[in-house]
Amino acid sequence: MNQLLGTILDRINPHKAPRKYPGKLPVKFLVDFLAHVLSTLAVLLFAAVPVFANEGSIAFVGARIIDGTAADPLEDGVIVITDGRIRTVGPRSAVTIPAGAQQIDVTGKTIMPGLINAHGHVGNTVGLGTGAYTTDNLLRQLNLYARYGITTINSLGGDEAQGFDLRNEQFDADLDRARIFVAGSVVLGDTEAAIRAEVNRNADMGANFIKVRVDDNLGTAQKMPRPLFDALVDQAHIRRLPVAVHLFYLDDAKYILNAGADLIAHSVRDELVDREFIDQINSRNVCYIPTLTREVSTFVYESTPEFFADPFFLKAVEPDIIAQLSTPEYQSRIQNSASAQGYKVALGVAMDNIKLLRDGGVSIAMGTDTGPPARFQGYFEHMEIHMMVEAGMTPHEAIRASTGVAADCINVHDIGTLEPGKWGDLIVLGANPLENIENTKSIESVWIAGNRVLD
Ligand SMILES: [Zn+2]
Repeated sequence: MNQLLGTILDRINPHKAPRKYPGKLPVKFLVDFLAHVLSTLAVLLFAAVPVFANEGSIAFVGARIIDGTAADPLEDGVIVITDGRIRTVGPRSAVTIPAGAQQIDVTGKTIMPGLINAHGHVGNTVGLGTGAYTTDNLLRQLNLYARYGITTINSLGGDEAQGFDLRNEQFDADLDRARIFVAGSVVLGDTEAAIRAEVNRNADMGANFIKVRVDDNLGTAQKMPRPLFDALVDQAHIRRLPVAVHLFYLDDAKYILNAGADLIAHSVRDELVDREFIDQINSRNVCYIPTLTREVSTFVYESTPEFFADPFFLKAVEPDIIAQLSTPEYQSRIQNSASAQGYKVALGVAMDNIKLLRDGGVSIAMGTDTGPPARFQGYFEHMEIHMMVEAGMTPHEAIRASTGVAADCINVHDIGTLEPGKWGDLIVLGANPLENIENTKSIESVWIAGNRVLD
């Protein structure tokens, strides 16, 4: 039994140490791990004795299940969630639904894991303005993401105490808003000492990542000097935290990989990636987040975007924002913006690179950089997935990049796939996204920890 238990825990343990940090675990991981051991023991006990009543279970019956792993979809499947976590997944003929479980008939529907945005920002924007970071605004945005089926956001910068608090409160079977993980501030500093101090400040708050920018904003700003970047990576790794990097240039991408960076948070957009880079990123087991829609947001308001007529967009946007982004003055400002036109060219390079990286076997995770004004949380994640397919990924690859692969890339191991022991975060779709990726928009309901997200 002990050996079996150990094997099962190894397989489904949701909080393995972050992939490259097998040292001392943060307290948070230990607490979550113990909670998970207890819930796993509960599942094993249930499995060992007949169960006649099981309050708190919900069973989705009859759907096609895309589980977020590399497996083929399961037709006519059943998912049982107990106390917020997935207890059983399998074909209808093989699953015993616990007596007393609430049953939901999802015949003909498709269920997939809730989407994970591996690069977003939460809490600071209201309308087209910023500086509104409050708990209320964080919750409003986490609910917005959730209604669009984005059940987890890895917030890479701009996170303050209220965001950390929400992160700490979310390992709970009552949760019904999107999960958030946090990086704290985007680390800046003119000296090595200042950089190390800021890394420590974020680490002391309990950051999941350390975020840094290595970019000159199309030649208009000073890049972080490489010795300071080296110090940042060193200090982050002393604190056993992974480093997520905003970058633009291939040359910088190669440098930061050699320096030990752990997550590439934007596309390489100045030139096509080469064999050297692909070998480097694969051998270091680093994930790559394209954020194509970040580029889109820089230039698309030069005219009236097509998506301004999409009901899936209109259901959540404030009409006033559309009006402000549609004035002739706004449009001509974007038309005349050198950076907007520069990023439009960069988007083409970024999309070509997705195909090269995908063919090269690189781990690609969906991320959008949504949150800043006019980067629409919820809607842009769907646009991102559709663009990833347009760039050369298969629908199944793009779905995995937005679920199981994304979870691995942000080091959160109890979300992202529909497997026993994971949180019950899922989306019920009216149409099959493997047949047409646009069907990710056919959302009929969203569930987080087995709780229905209200529209
Ligand atoms: Zn960002």
